Amino acid sequence: MTTTLAQDLRDAAALLASANDVTLLGHVRPDADALGSALALGRALQLRGGVKVRVSVGEPEEMPETLRGLDVGGLYVPASELPESEQLLVALDTPTPGRLGKLAPRVDAVRAAGGDVLVIDHHASNVFFGTKHVVDDTAEATAVLVFALLAELGTELDEPIARCLYAGLVTDTSGFRRARPSTHLMAAKLLEAGVDPDKVVREIVDDHPFAWLPMLSDVLSDARLEPDEAQGFGLAYAVVTLDAARTVRSEEVEAVVDVVRSTREAGVAVVLKEAEPTGPRRRWQVSLRSKGGVDVSAAAGELGGGGHRQAAGCTAEGTADEVLGKLKAALRRAPLL
Ligand code: AMP
Ligand code: MN
Ligand code: MN
Repeated sequence: MTTTLAQDLRDAAALLASANDVTLLGHVRPDADALGSALALGRALQLRGGVKVRVSVGEPEEMPETLRGLDVGGLYVPASELPESEQLLVALDTPTPGRLGKLAPRVDAVRAAGGDVLVIDHHASNVFFGTKHVVDDTAEATAVLVFALLAELGTELDEPIARCLYAGLVTDTSGFRRARPSTHLMAAKLLEAGVDPDKVVREIVDDHPFAWLPMLSDVLSDARLEPDEAQGFGLAYAVVTLDAARTVRSEEVEAVVDVVRSTREAGVAVVLKEAEPTGPRRRWQVSLRSKGGVDVSAAAGELGGGGHRQAAGCTAEGTADEVLGKLKAALRRAPLL
C-alpha cells in the first residue's frame, strides 16, 4: 500500500467516524460491488451508533432483486425518497458524477453547502470529484478499499458486512479469476466472519428464472463472431432488444455477456442491451469484455463511457448496426494491453 493510500484511508476513517448523517451512493444500475460496498460501509457505521445512514442509487428506484438480501439493516432508500440535503455524501465504485445518474447534482449541492463528498473507487478513470478520496486503480474491487477502511475504523466484521464485501469481491474479480494472494487473504477473512460462499454466489450470480433459457436461445441464435475485428483478437457480439428481454429481469440481461465472453475465438465480447427510449432513436447500454489483449475501457471511452481495461461499458443511440459500427471502429484504435 502506498503511503498516500494509507493516509487517505486514515483521513476517510476520521471523516466517517465524526459524521452523524451519512448518505452512501453507488453508481446507476448498481452491481454487487457498488451496492455491496455501500451496504457494508453503511452497516459498519450504523453499528457504531449515533449516525443516520442511508444507501441509494440514481437508477432504478428499487434495488435489483438479487442484491436485496445484502441489505440486512434496511438501509436502502429509493432515490426519490432521499432527503434534500446531506452532510456527508459517500460515492462508491463511481468514477464520475455522471455515473450517479439523477443524483449527480447532489455532489455540487453538498460541496456548496460546506459538506464533504468522500469518493471510494477503483476505476483508473476516476476524476477525483470529491473533497476526500480513497481511490486505487490497482484494487480489484471497491469492496477491497472498504475492507481496508473498516480495518482503519476498527470495525469488527459481522456476517452481513462480510457477505456484502464478498459479493463485490467475487463478482468484480469474475469469480477470483483476476486475483492476487491478497485477494484470497481478504476472502479468507470474510469466510472466517461467517460468509457462505456457495450461497452468496448462487443468489447473486447463478440464480435465474427458467424464462432466461428461451431468452438466451433467442439472443444467442443471432450472435456473431468476427475474427478479424478487435485488431485480430476477434469480436463476438449479441444484441438484446427490449422485446427479447420482456420476459426477464435486468439480472438476466446483464448475465448475457458472461456467456458471450466465453467464446474461444474472440478476445473481445460485446453485448448491446436496449434501454427504454427517451426520444425517437433507439438507446443501448453496452457491455464490453476483454480477455486481456485490447483495452476495452478506451473503446467505451470513445463513445462517452468508461470502466476497466477488461470490463467496460457505455450508452449509445441509433440502430444496433450503427452502434456496432462505432464500437468496431473504436476497438480498432484501442490500445493493446
Ligand atoms: P457492465 O458491463 O455494465 O457490467 O460494466 C462494466 C464496467 O463498465 C463497470 O466498471 C462499469 O462501471 C463501467 N460502465 C458500464 N456502463 C458504463 C457507462 N454507461 N458509462 C461509464 N462506465 C460504464
Ligand atoms: Mn461497478
Ligand atoms: Mn467495481
